[in-house]
Amino acid sequence: MDLFEHQAKELFAKHGVAVPRGRVAWSPEEAEAAAAGLGGTVVVKAQVQVGGRGKAGGIQLAKDPTEAKARAERIIGMDIRGHTVRRVLVEEASEIANEYYLAILHDRASKGYLAMASAEGGMDIEEVAATKPGAIVKVGVNPLVGLRPYHVNQLLYGAGFPPETHKGAAEIVTRLYEVLTAEDCMLVEVNPLVVTSDGQVKALDGKVTLDDSSLYRHPELEEMRDTFAVDPQEQAAKEKGLNYIKLDGWVGIIGNGAGLVMSTLDVVAQVGGKAANFLDIGGGASAETMAAGLEVILSDAKVRSVLVNIFGGITRGDLVAQGVLDALDRLGDKVTVPLVVRLDGTNAEEGRELLAESPSDKVVPAATMLEAARKAVELAGAIPKEGA
Ligand code: GDP
Ligand code: MN
Repeated sequence: MDLFEHQAKELFAKHGVAVPRGRVAWSPEEAEAAAAGLGGTVVVKAQVQVGGRGKAGGIQLAKDPTEAKARAERIIGMDIRGHTVRRVLVEEASEIANEYYLAILHDRASKGYLAMASAEGGMDIEEVAATKPGAIVKVGVNPLVGLRPYHVNQLLYGAGFPPETHKGAAEIVTRLYEVLTAEDCMLVEVNPLVVTSDGQVKALDGKVTLDDSSLYRHPELEEMRDTFAVDPQEQAAKEKGLNYIKLDGWVGIIGNGAGLVMSTLDVVAQVGGKAANFLDIGGGASAETMAAGLEVILSDAKVRSVLVNIFGGITRGDLVAQGVLDALDRLGDKVTVPLVVRLDGTNAEEGRELLAESPSDKVVPAATMLEAARKAVELAGAIPKEGA
């Protein structure tokens, strides 16, 4: 899970990494108030999880609160490479003398950490890596040894940080390592790390990728997710532990196993339909999982038919059928679209018998995957109207 800049900086500050003072604002009025609270010139920064905000006009200086309000008015609602800006970070402006790059990340190849630094900060680091690979210094850090002063020296001397910046920069590298390890991050990145005209070293930008597998150890970090503008169906699916991805078609898909779901998507496309989602209920799925999955899919107003495609291995066809029936019971009249069900493999026969007894007229059995896809597409009707 990637954090927004303001969240990354909150983590930085918690571990003593120097960052500019700042406040989050969700409206131009809040930005105005934030600027008034900070005093002096501020910088209004779009909060989106994509780089290159500066170039896109998402980062603007404002000399007073009125100007901050006007800047925020322009930035909030802006589209930056497909991401809509919902909030801005209002920060005290920094007078930049020099910009650098710093990052520490997991390096799967060495099964350790990798610290990187460059004096070519502020620029797109991928571009630096492509055009001037020598300008990026990489230092491997063995997690069992931890970050030591000699690693830091290698980084700072190697990247050519001027001597007067070493004390401040070393402090930041050390604290960033603490953020990485204490908060279970996959990546911490600062681009740019700046030296101000009065000699302070601070993190002007911040990127943090948390390790999702460790979120259970950090309930307070999990909360950061709450403020994300996630799709309501994806949120509901996540809460139920389902592997769900929303797409933009109109045939809802449920299958067991990622491979089967992908093939189902292909077959639906082949017969002229378009999948509304990708939902893998996994191996050994129970009636409960099936019901939860159907609920999520049916809550998507674009869905005009659902195709349940199950190949029973560990997953038992009768349990899947029971899940479909449970979901129909639970959802009642909310089920307004046909459910085409294709069961094969373990206990498929028992499953089909259960479904045949269903009083609902929504269940449509199908013998093969192709037939199921044809039925689902046909029952969904013509290509839906815009906004349907
Ligand atoms: P990104 O474009 O999404 O990586 O956003 P950054 O936070 O890295 O900002 C991009 C650039 O905006 C920086 O490299 C700086 O040159 C400039 N910038 C950001 N904050 C300030 C500031 O407080 N003062 C000044 N003068 N420039 C800033
Ligand atoms: Mn940046």
